[in-house]
Amino acid sequence: MTADLARLTMHELTDAFRRRETSPTEATRSYLDRIDKLDGRVGAYLAVTSDRALAAAAAADARYGRGAPLGPLDGVPVAYKDVFCTRGVVTTSGSRILEPFVPPYDATVIARLTEAGAVMLGKTNMDEFAMGSSTEHSGFKPTHNPWDLARVPGGSSGGSAAAVAGELAAAALGTDTGGSVRQPAAFCGTVGLKPTYGRISRYGLIAFASSLDHVGTLTRDVRDAALLLHAVAGVDPRDSTSVPEAVPDYAALLDGGVGGLRLGVPREYFAGGVDAEVETAVRAAIAKLSELGAAVEEVSLPTTDYGLAVYYIIAPAEASSNLARYDGVKYGRRAPGKDLIDMQSRTRAAGFGAEVKRRIMLGTYALSAGYYDAYYGRAQKVRTLVRRDFEAAFARVDLLVAPTTPSVAFKHGDKADPIAMYLNDVFTVGADLTGLPAVSLRCGFSAAGLPIGLQLIGRPLDEARVLRAAYTYEQATDWRSRRAPLNDARSHSAPETGHLR
Ligand code: GLN
Repeated sequence: MTADLARLTMHELTDAFRRRETSPTEATRSYLDRIDKLDGRVGAYLAVTSDRALAAAAAADARYGRGAPLGPLDGVPVAYKDVFCTRGVVTTSGSRILEPFVPPYDATVIARLTEAGAVMLGKTNMDEFAMGSSTEHSGFKPTHNPWDLARVPGGSSGGSAAAVAGELAAAALGTDTGGSVRQPAAFCGTVGLKPTYGRISRYGLIAFASSLDHVGTLTRDVRDAALLLHAVAGVDPRDSTSVPEAVPDYAALLDGGVGGLRLGVPREYFAGGVDAEVETAVRAAIAKLSELGAAVEEVSLPTTDYGLAVYYIIAPAEASSNLARYDGVKYGRRAPGKDLIDMQSRTRAAGFGAEVKRRIMLGTYALSAGYYDAYYGRAQKVRTLVRRDFEAAFARVDLLVAPTTPSVAFKHGDKADPIAMYLNDVFTVGADLTGLPAVSLRCGFSAAGLPIGLQLIGRPLDEARVLRAAYTYEQATDWRSRRAPLNDARSHSAPETGHLR
């Protein structure tokens, strides 16, 4: 059984725990071994917390031994994006400026998963302060896509997506501000769920752009997404933007199909700029959903073209304010200077990478007196127009279906131009600007064997329907059975050097 433990979903793994076919310790060891063997090539992790993981797994073993597991996540080895504060474990947000930062508390999501018995394997790599779409902007190292190591895993939650796709964790948490859960999920062929703004507490999440930041999940299948969301969702007195609504039992609501559901296909998302392979796969998925009983119609989101511009004003503006706290005094690193101002500017010059500096400058400019109305104020107004477009669409349909990204995973270094990188977010920023729940799941492969993502977007707090439609499609197709080449036993046996030269 051990050899194949890493390919199991969370729910398959806990079923196996309950049947005593394996144990949390055995599963944790098998993941730690794989990380040891393979993560040098993937670079999914910034820190691996082996001792702590084995201690948590032993406690879970004992609970299963007593026949009293804590629930559907007990003993499951998971990974957390390094943007979540973890008590006693270095938390960097991918930035050198936080290299020595050890949080004195856990983020609410971490505390909830710990209470549910989840076993933390470690902290995953990310673009610095979650700014990026490729994980190339990490202050530490790049991450590689398990489907093709020459390609990026997407970003900014690239480490979490690569960990799940590379079978280096059973599931992971990420964050999505402009697409950072769904886009890497699409590139790595995992399920990536970003629920409604406020559905999951942001307490203890290192802020990028507070009105856009969402916690999300990266999993092998839709059922796992439902289970993980249920465990972390719900109001939190420590986050005043968290929503005081009951959290449904999402996993119990997956069945029921898509019969009678009205699906909207946004015309503007196919208006050019989408790779042919992506468009073909997404259109085939829409046809499949229609065959399964959904009614499909075209809808229009006329402000689609402005979404990126609005996002790239508002996100940097909020970031410039949020990142002012890294001043060499309160957190992390300090560079010596001759006085306070000199110390602060040296600290920030040395601690932040190029993309973060670019965003701080853009954001500070957009917020400065004289430009505030022209940029930030205007962007807020257009954000309202974007929301109205989605409201009008949801007056007619129950869900929107679209590609997650315009292309499949690109090669490292291919999008050195920041604007080219920003364009990757064109289909994901809408759900962040509006706070709507959205999921990405596999709907095919390119000729080169790279996964393609299908995106479903729902009404506020309607995660259950988003997940049900995703589940129905997933179960009716076989895309999920393909594993990344990294996980194919043949590809990671040592080369037979004898006849290679
Ligand atoms: N790629 C987008 C950005 O760089 C989104 C990042 C995110 O969602 N955290 O801002």
